[in-house]
Amino acid sequence: SHPVYARIDGPIVMIGFGSIGRGTLPLIERHFDYDHAAFSVIEPGEAGQKELAARGITCHPVALTPENYREVLGKVLEPGKGFCVNLSVDTSSLDLMKFCREIGVPYIDTVVEPWAGFYFDTEDNAARTNYALRQAVRDEKAANPGGSTAVSCCGANPGMVSWFVKAGLMTLARDTGREITAPTDRAGWAGLMQSLGVKGVHIAERDTQARETPRPRGVFVNTWSVEGFIAEGFQPAELGWGTHETWFPENGYRHSEGCQSSIWLDRPGAITRVHTWCPTPGPQFGFLVTHNEAISISDYYTVGAADAPEFRPTCHYAYHPADDAVLSLHEMFGSGRQQTEHVILEVDEIVEGIDELGVLLYGHEKNALWYGSRLSNEETKALAPDQNATGLQVTSAVLAGMVWALENPNAGIVETDEMDHARCLEVQVPYLGPVEAHYTDWTPLQDRWQHFPEDIDEADPWLFRNVLAS
Ligand code: NAD
Repeated sequence: SHPVYARIDGPIVMIGFGSIGRGTLPLIERHFDYDHAAFSVIEPGEAGQKELAARGITCHPVALTPENYREVLGKVLEPGKGFCVNLSVDTSSLDLMKFCREIGVPYIDTVVEPWAGFYFDTEDNAARTNYALRQAVRDEKAANPGGSTAVSCCGANPGMVSWFVKAGLMTLARDTGREITAPTDRAGWAGLMQSLGVKGVHIAERDTQARETPRPRGVFVNTWSVEGFIAEGFQPAELGWGTHETWFPENGYRHSEGCQSSIWLDRPGAITRVHTWCPTPGPQFGFLVTHNEAISISDYYTVGAADAPEFRPTCHYAYHPADDAVLSLHEMFGSGRQQTEHVILEVDEIVEGIDELGVLLYGHEKNALWYGSRLSNEETKALAPDQNATGLQVTSAVLAGMVWALENPNAGIVETDEMDHARCLEVQVPYLGPVEAHYTDWTPLQDRWQHFPEDIDEADPWLFRNVLAS
């Protein structure tokens, strides 16, 4: 009963068989017609290798490095056909994407990942930003426009949330009585956001998935890659910087090169808290962890010049991870060292909870609209094997991105903001549980502690100054 979206001829190579790779495999099996003997995985880890052997899937037991990637990929891919699905950590998305485009193989990843060492060995914080990582991909796109399709950053976030921004804008347009058809280009979408009076976007997430056993001390517990989360959590906090902001953080820095859509703070994102809102908890703290979409969305919706925009939304992640992950972060930053034991909660050990992941479009005439997926772990079990709710939101976006790439084989390097959101959501939504729009009258000025002075500005509730928790 599952739709088969395309036939893929030639080798399909997945890089990395961690939590996202394992969850993506059954969706590829379901939704594409291909020769199963032509599917293989590059996976250096022993656990993944064993699992692949047990399933009879060809595994290349090697870690890609700057020295070997051309040779390894050159041997397993075939020019002009197949697909390269990069779901690994510690590999350079930019280098892998360039190689795939050179040989005309469609490519997709879920993050702009750097080679091993970048996150912790780079001294200069400005160079450790997602802005720097993304800008390198945008520069490559500008230098080599068009050509074989490479989809950059197509997971849940970055990824799906960019499609939710567009769906949310259309919902808001309809609910405020505007008769519009969906714009077809960047200028149209940016103009729509501006005309609706949206000041900014939180990528507002609450993960309530939990297992029965309490988190043991000394173990980092998360619902997706622990390594990936620690790496991004130690990057500087970053956010797209909107034109409505009247104040500038003391520890904030701008960029002088590139799209200039965002700023970074001289502080790790995973200990930088913001006031935000999701349907289940209502008001909550989220962590301002840096993410590619904060930069891409504020860039995509910019009206006017990069260095003197007429309109630009503020945009950032506001992430409340699973409670065990919050405790893990607390322990890690408090002790000054990373836990050596890492656990990703498995679908079958999770006893309750949902991953509520959406976009909070704020500052407009209806105050704020949250638009997103409220997928429970229970429902996930019925939808697809080998993953929890967090995983399925990511892997179903990978599926949608692959379908779009196959339908648009010569689109060049694209981000999810630049793809057809309606087509992508059509493919993805069957895996997202309830996808809902919720309006709220909450603002960051409500529900504050009244007994202590705070650095707030009541002139506009939606200033980042009020969103940032002191
Ligand atoms: P994971 O840690 O479970 O798995 C990563 C896999 O990469 C491991 O199996 C590891 O052995 C493999 N790997 C490590 N070094 C490698 C190398 N040099 N060459 C090839 N493979 C290598 O991580 P995950 O949860 O599966 O996440 C995978 C990627 O997806 C990460 O980059 C993560 O940041 C990203 N991600 C994106 C989203 C999103 O919404 N956009 C969400 C979750 C994860």
